[in-house]
Amino acid sequence: MSIKISIVKNFSSAHFLIGHEKCGRIHGHNWKVKVIVEGELEEHGWVIDFTVLKKVVDELLNRYDHKMLLPNSISYNENSITGNLNFIANSKKYSFPKEDCVIVPIANVTCENLSILIYNELKEILKNFTNICGLEVIVNERDEQGASFSG
Ligand SMILES: [Zn+2]
Repeated sequence: MSIKISIVKNFSSAHFLIGHEKCGRIHGHNWKVKVIVEGELEEHGWVIDFTVLKKVVDELLNRYDHKMLLPNSISYNENSITGNLNFIANSKKYSFPKEDCVIVPIANVTCENLSILIYNELKEILKNFTNICGLEVIVNERDEQGASFSG
């Protein structure tokens, strides 16, 4: 018998979309990430210790928290004097302190792509738990809109 458990974690970051008029301007979200894990109950009567799952998800999301999330589909130049990342996106020139930015391995920073990215990162970590048979990651940028990926 398998059962599903879930946790919710939040992180805050800025982003913009490539190729979108309104969302091509820099703005921020308090992203809400729901992780659903399905598996057989192990000897203690749980699928995975909530403390362990929350710690793993926290470590993943902390890399993105209070950062400028940048897509990997554009070119970046690092200014050797200022240390800033310079780039052009949506025909606009930007410059940000490098330590405030994360270039994420997705072409556009959308809920859809973030859900796939976090799913793949989590799946790799959870592969050691042999009782787990299912995973779903839901990323909401607002209460009323988000994306879900389950492999
Ligand atoms: Zn947005």
